[in-house]
Amino acid sequence: MEKQQYSDIFQATLEKWGEEAQYDQIIEECAELIAALKHFKRGRVTEDHIVDELADVILMSQQLMYMFGEGRVSQAIDKKIYKLRSLLHTP
Ligand SMILES: [Mg+2]
Repeated sequence: MEKQQYSDIFQATLEKWGEEAQYDQIIEECAELIAALKHFKRGRVTEDHIVDELADVILMSQQLMYMFGEGRVSQAIDKKIYKLRSLLHTP
């Protein structure tokens, strides 16, 4: 499913819980992914658990992209990819 199709859900989420709750939620999801990765390194959780936590972070990242403007975030990503390419000396 294309992320564009989630716009209605992102808007509804924003209207129901508000902007500040979204910041709290992504902080929480990032913390959960960090904890899961620490556990994964010690063999205490499965890859499926990591995928699940990763999905939460990606979804919340998309929620914030919706809030801050996808074009703006895409431009920032392009800049970073350009910088990474130059560091790796790839065309
Ligand atoms: Mg989570």
